[in-house]
Amino acid sequence: MAWVTSHQLRLYNSLGRLTEDFAPSADVVGLYSCGPTVYAYQHLGNMRPYVFADTLRRALRWKGIPVRHVVNITDVGHAVADSDTGEDKLELAAERERRSVEEIAEFYTQDWLAALAALNVQPAHVYPRASAYVDQMIEFAQVLEDKGYTYRLPSGLYFDTSKSPGYGTLALLDLAGQRETGRVEHVEGRRHNSDFALWRAEEPGVRRIMRWNSPWGWGAPGWHLECSVMSMSLLGEHFDIHTGGIDHRELHHVNEIAQSEAFLEDGRPWVRYWLHNEFILLDAQKIAKSAGHTLRLADLVESGYHPMAYRLFLLGGHYRSQLDFTMTAMDAARATLRGLITRVAPLRPLPPVETLDEARALADAADDKTALAYVEAVDAAIASDLATPKLLATLQDALRDPELSAEGLRVVVAAADALLGLRLGDLSLADVEQRRSAADLAPQEVADIERLIAERTEARTARNWARADEIRAELDALGVEVKDTPAGPTWQLR
Ligand code: AMP
Ligand code: ZN
Repeated sequence: MAWVTSHQLRLYNSLGRLTEDFAPSADVVGLYSCGPTVYAYQHLGNMRPYVFADTLRRALRWKGIPVRHVVNITDVGHAVADSDTGEDKLELAAERERRSVEEIAEFYTQDWLAALAALNVQPAHVYPRASAYVDQMIEFAQVLEDKGYTYRLPSGLYFDTSKSPGYGTLALLDLAGQRETGRVEHVEGRRHNSDFALWRAEEPGVRRIMRWNSPWGWGAPGWHLECSVMSMSLLGEHFDIHTGGIDHRELHHVNEIAQSEAFLEDGRPWVRYWLHNEFILLDAQKIAKSAGHTLRLADLVESGYHPMAYRLFLLGGHYRSQLDFTMTAMDAARATLRGLITRVAPLRPLPPVETLDEARALADAADDKTALAYVEAVDAAIASDLATPKLLATLQDALRDPELSAEGLRVVVAAADALLGLRLGDLSLADVEQRRSAADLAPQEVADIERLIAERTEARTARNWARADEIRAELDALGVEVKDTPAGPTWQLR
């Protein structure tokens, strides 16, 4: 076989802040991603963690590594401002919207799942709801109490972070400093600012809507507990990768690690790789004014942007870089997507490709060395800490490369899209923007369409019906409708 280079998958591990070779510890990699708190619509920024986790999953699949992915749904326990004593976000939303907590959770969960599907994010294997795991959370907190890691206060059961030897390593916390000066919230009797609630007891005279009885009185679990309990329950005590937004690196994940390693007490790191996505910066002022609320995917769709244009916008930045969301950037992403579809549609159907091995075998079968080199470049890009901007650039290079055979190009496009997930195999121009008219097309797009129509006319004149049908199918895939009139063919977008 001609190929020899295989690029080791390398990922940036927040634990240690280094890019490392990824070496799975089990036949099936356990992957846990912190999910949404379902008390409101998820805004555009909130969607990045899941597109990023999806890219990671596609990278693992590409490398032939099986994955089990768990994404939790926080429907209890997450207090306002991530505090230990504030009101539960779900309960506040229920009051505000005059609906039950269950209705609120279900409504916003379904809305979020629909947005993920629209973004072509592969579903997780399990979406556990925190409210279904409260009994296990109580048992977990009980173990921590029995082991002497906790103390009781009237406001609940607290984890004593001074008993956790490596506390804050993930966040590079200055331990003593964090314990003294850390967060501002004042909790009566709390020993260190970094200590956090495992159980939040009801205040006397205040009855929560979501309440459970526990050895520490009626109340609800602390927010951090759920992820330790659900991940261990569904992926085993130790697993390979934990992901989330960059804000979690400073507090939520620090506390997850502290309580999990205290629970296990086996001297091993609980989870080996911690990956965090940077934020999407939303021009909140401007967007909120026009939309009346924080911008979300459904608003973009309503304004005529296909969800794949937003996915392309996200993939155009590296997941560890901050990315500014602007309408100009969205327009650019949409134009790029149109360009990709225009180029790719005539190549369809694309061969089915999910893995590097499949892509190599197909490039080999096509006997196209250039295609093989592009497949290696695709592999190099994704293996380099999921460098999607590089991957997109490689795809664009391939689409312009005259050295590639048609079959070779098909393989390269299919390989790139196995990782990008932009639906290049089936998306039409008409899908990308239904309300578009031909007047909105770029001159190059019009030229491409007219060239195809001219070729079709030629084929018909030559009575080459098979070729004429083939071209019609290509035009169809582009969303172009051709009408034959006595004056010659005319066309419009469907
Ligand atoms: P939440 O529902 O607030 O718990 O947030 C869900 C996920 O979105 C978390 O992993 C957050 O870290 C992440 N997140 C929140 N805001 C942004 C943003 N502007 N850009 C990227 N990720 C974000
Ligand atoms: Zn979490």
